[in-house]
Amino acid sequence: MSRFFSVKYNMLEPYTPGEQPQDMQYVKLNTNESPFPPSPKAIEAAAKAAERLQLYSDPECRTLTEKFCEVFGTGKDEVIFANGSDEVLNFAFMAFCDDAHPAAFPNITYGFYPVFAQLNGVPYREIPLFHDLTINPEDYCGINKTIFLPNPNAPTGIALRRSDIEPILRTNPNNVVIVDEAYVDFGTESCLTMTRKYENLLVAQTFSKSRSMAGARLGYGVGNPELIRDLNTIKYSTNPYNINSMSMAAGIGELSDEEYTRKNCRTIEENREFTVEALRRRGFAIPDSKANFIFVKHVMLDGETIYRKLKERGVLVRHFTRPIIADYNRISIGTREQMQTLIDKLDEILGETA
Ligand code: PMP
Repeated sequence: MSRFFSVKYNMLEPYTPGEQPQDMQYVKLNTNESPFPPSPKAIEAAAKAAERLQLYSDPECRTLTEKFCEVFGTGKDEVIFANGSDEVLNFAFMAFCDDAHPAAFPNITYGFYPVFAQLNGVPYREIPLFHDLTINPEDYCGINKTIFLPNPNAPTGIALRRSDIEPILRTNPNNVVIVDEAYVDFGTESCLTMTRKYENLLVAQTFSKSRSMAGARLGYGVGNPELIRDLNTIKYSTNPYNINSMSMAAGIGELSDEEYTRKNCRTIEENREFTVEALRRRGFAIPDSKANFIFVKHVMLDGETIYRKLKERGVLVRHFTRPIIADYNRISIGTREQMQTLIDKLDEILGETA
């Protein structure tokens, strides 16, 4: 830390992103990316947009918004685009949290929530999961806090039903509830259908996972027009050009290819069930996942050893060092071939230690 660094950030512990190795070719199952390339329509549109990079991007994202509204049936004033859904979440911390509206989220969840809270000087409460790693919706009812609820949760992959979330919205009428649906397209019920019913609901989604565009950094929030206006106040006070022209164009191309996205999601779901079954037979405990990743713990071998031995064999998974989840690894779901390689390498590792 330099002597110039603001005292505001003395205690800030930044988020640690998953490894993005550049040295060797891994079977990369550590950051929940899609194993499939973006839609050809997205690639073509991005290349075309590159020809006009001398111009600023459209701060209103008009063409993308129109296409989005056509596909999702929302109004133009009900959506905001951002530089990844991470930016939607940060905007939400800035816009909807303060001393009178502290944040609340699960104690085992997306590691960026506490970082955003600290960055914005927002008090927060981490609500413990049940011992089986599920979220108890009752813990969030009537708590008068701005709630960040990932659905499905990360890194567990466990999903809540829409009917579990409705009481949370109803009993916290003076706070915004942000449902983070980064992984919703792999089998979870979306809350998008409820944004007109609950003025305090903001749904965050992303093009990073089901839409194969993590590198484009394109996310969005959907909610009541007044919430969206507040988020726009933050956006226009930080970076009006937060979506670059190529990502915007790629997003439009991608939204013209819904069949491609749907097919990829179904393949990931099938590969997930295949992997879960194979790993359970090998002594792994795995909560039921509705995401494009699974959270696994072995009866005998500890999480760090499995992570390290897989990495030595060219397979990268995500290991978290926090003591309460250190026994686990989070494994992204890739192609059938990638998952078979994972299983083969695990067989080697388990054979070695038997
Ligand atoms: N929410 C959750 C739960 C996530 O795991 C991630 C991805 N790391 C995000 C939001 C943000 O994704 P992106 O910024 O790529 O949209």
